[in-house]
Parts: sequence; structure tokens; C-alpha cells
Amino acid sequence: MGLTAQIQAVRGMNDVLPADIGLWQRLEAVARELLEAYGYAEIRVPIVEHTELFRRAIGEHTDVVEKEMYTFVDQGGESLTLRPEATAGIVRAVIGNGMLRGQRHKLWCAGPAFRHEKPQKGRFRQFHQIDVEAVGFAGPDLDAELIALTARLWRRLGISRVRLLLNSLGTAESRRAYRARLVDYFRAHEPRLDADSRRRLDANPLRILDSKNPEMRELVAEAPLLTEHLDGDSRAHFEGLCAALDSIGVDYEVNPRLVRGLDYYSRTVFEWVSDALGSQDAVCAGGRYDGLIAQLGGEATAAMGFALGMERTVELLREASRQPDAPGAAGLRPPHVYVIVNGERAAAAGLRVIESLRDALPQLRFELSLGGGNFKAQFRRADRSGAQLALVMGEEELGRGAAALKPLRQEAGQSECLLVELPERILAALAAERGARHAEGGRGESIGG
Ligand code: ATP
Ligand code: MG
Repeated sequence: MGLTAQIQAVRGMNDVLPADIGLWQRLEAVARELLEAYGYAEIRVPIVEHTELFRRAIGEHTDVVEKEMYTFVDQGGESLTLRPEATAGIVRAVIGNGMLRGQRHKLWCAGPAFRHEKPQKGRFRQFHQIDVEAVGFAGPDLDAELIALTARLWRRLGISRVRLLLNSLGTAESRRAYRARLVDYFRAHEPRLDADSRRRLDANPLRILDSKNPEMRELVAEAPLLTEHLDGDSRAHFEGLCAALDSIGVDYEVNPRLVRGLDYYSRTVFEWVSDALGSQDAVCAGGRYDGLIAQLGGEATAAMGFALGMERTVELLREASRQPDAPGAAGLRPPHVYVIVNGERAAAAGLRVIESLRDALPQLRFELSLGGGNFKAQFRRADRSGAQLALVMGEEELGRGAAALKPLRQEAGQSECLLVELPERILAALAAERGARHAEGGRGESIGG
């Protein structure tokens, strides 16, 4: 007997199993509702784009483009890349579909992103983001509204262990002046630079500030501050944003070291971090990218967006749902009615009856005892399913055009009823069941309609 090798999932790419799906669906549902309430429309863009898009949007000298992209040549000889983030694709779509021309758009999308990083807790090779972009809004009022949206999302999800970090990167011009000072500073300390930083010194010295190497921490801490080189307009923009956040009671910490991993940001950058996640502590990050659209060939248009890491948010949700009095993270809910079939003819009739019940009572969940089996075993399965009611179909009752209903969560006998009366009898039995549970102080689920 030969053993066949088992096929493993790709490293860093995870299955979301039914036990966890409730947390994911809650995040998706709450985010969708909130985004709609703030006037954001969903957009869906491809997973795969031309490699050139990410090179130009994200920047050549970033970790993502230098070493993390899943790039391949397709059968037609084109270099394509699995998206490492969603902003570039959305901007490409907005330009390519003629959506600019002075129009403004609030857009969001959710889905997977791919980066060839070292897999660890909170860091995967396929991960998921909710990505939110506002195109055509130049003022700090948009920045404030966008950040308020994220703050409200945490509240709606019951997540409290998060902090908001805020900074301004200024304009491309003010960054140029700062960049020159930064290069002078790091050159003066060149022996202390690690290999990555040395390479970036000419190409992209700001990225050195984002170094994850602990040995670089001290050097980075003493580097000149970007905040001191802000141009007047950027300073006013940032002050406008801070005042707006103050006025709506969103707390933040200004962190002059906050730069973002992607090159396209200007002015406002922000990041939500949590102390509940270990070292991969960023859950949601974004900023303004007023120059990106022109850089990708569109007419110059101000824009801002953020991406929320769904895996890390689900971890926070899991943590929050362990707190007492947290709303339950319901996965798949149990059926209302479990249909037991006794005998071959009943099994055939069971399928017909359950399908017509699904027509008559679309608000209810039914489970058919597939595969039949002996009566006792089927009752055990009905019980384990969590259903409130069993519908028992036997050959003999069927002969009379009838079946039996039996409450599963109460001490009550079964009662026979005509097949044609099943819909109303099922509703009545479930209502009686709810009544009984209310009397005991339990919580019932509404099944109106
Ligand atoms: P980090 O500093 O953790 O590498 P980043 O700056 O590269 O994050 P962004 O590109 O801004 O992250 O992506 C936005 C969010 O997506 C992050 O805040 C994080 O929650 C999530 N994220 C990014 N990379 C990964 C990954 N490899 N696995 C899981 N989530 C990720
Ligand atoms: Mg990263």
C-alpha cells in the first residue's frame, strides 16, 4: 500500500475555517455598513496588475517592490504581479475609466494582498485588507472625516486597545529639503548604518527612518525631524486636521518618526497600532497621496486613503470578544428545523417537502437528515444540530399525507400535522418555543415574516 504525499497550503497563506468565519463576517458587515453611511461606494479591481504599476506607484526602493512582490511572466510574455496592496489598482482604475475630470469619488474595496515576507504572527504572504480611498478632496476636513471613520469602526467593533499615531510628511518640495539634511546626518554616521540603510542612503534616505532593525533605533531616534522642515501650507493643513480631530474628540499622538512603507504619501500619514498584537502592531494605516495620480498619468488630483489589515483586526476582535459582555461572534447559526426521515419512501419525500418548505418559509434554516440512517441516530444528529424543532417523516404518516413535529428543546411530545399545514404549524411551534425561552429569561431570535 503506497502512501500518497499530502499537499500542503502555500507557506504564509491561510485557510479561514468555519470556526473563525463569524469574526470575519462581523468585521465585513460592520465595515460595509459604516462605509456606506460615510458615502463610500464599493469598487472591485483585479488581483493581478502589470508589474510596472506597482513599481511606479509604490516606488523602486521600498521593501515591497525590492523584495516582496509575487511577480511572474505570463504565457504572453508580460510581467504581472499579484497586488501587494490595493491603492495602486484603484488609482489605475479611476484614471483608466475616465473617472477624474474634476469629479470626486469615495471608494472602498476588500480582498487579498500578497507579499513575500517572512511569515510570523500577524504577518502572512496572503493577507486581506479593507482599502478605502477618497479621490478629489484636498482639504484637511477629508483627512479628519476619514480618520473619524476609522475611530468609529473600532467603537462599532468593540475594539478599544488601539492608539492613533499621526504625522505630516509635507509636500514633495519640503521633503526634498529635509532629505538633503537627512543624507548629511546619516553620512556623518555611515559606519553605524546597516546594509539596507547604506543602500538606501542615496536612493531613498527617508526609508531608513522606517527601518525595522533594532540596532538602527538609536541612530534613527537622533535624526533630524521632518516636522521642522514642513512648508507653510502643509503645516496649516496638519494644524487644521489636528483641530478637527480635537473638536470631535478623536485622540491621537503626533509621532514625528512615522513614515509609511510606501513612497507615494505626502502630508498626512496615520497609523492605528495596538498593544494586543505583539510586534506586528499596526492594524490600519494610510495617508494623503496628492502626487500619485499625476505620477500614474492622470490629471493631478488630491487623494487620501488607508488600508486596514483584516487578519490583525480579526485578532483584536477575538481578543475583544473574550471580554465579559462582548457581543457574541456568531458563526453559522443552527437550523430552526431538522428533518428526520424514516424509510426509503420518506427519504425521497423528505427532499420534496423540505424544498417546498424553503419556498414557503424563506426566513428559516432547515437541515435535512442526509443519508438517512436509523431513527435513533437521526434523532441524535437532530439534537446535536442545535435545531429547535424536529420534523419527523415516517412512511406510515406520509401515507395519510401527514408528518410529526417534535420540539427538541422542551419536554413535549410530538404532534401529527398535515403536510399542507406544515408552514403555519412550524411557525406556531417556533413561536411557542420562543415564548417558553422568554419565560426562562433566554434570548430568542426574531423570525418574523
Ligand atoms: P508593517 O509595518 O506591519 O509591515 P506595512 O506598513 O507594510 O505594515 P501597509 O502597507 O500600510 O502595511 O498595509 C496596511 C495594513 O495591512 C497594515 O497596517 C497591516 O495591518 C496589514 N498588513 C500589511 N502587511 C501584512 C502582512 N504581511 N500580513 C498581514 N497583514 C499585513
Ligand atoms: Mg510591511
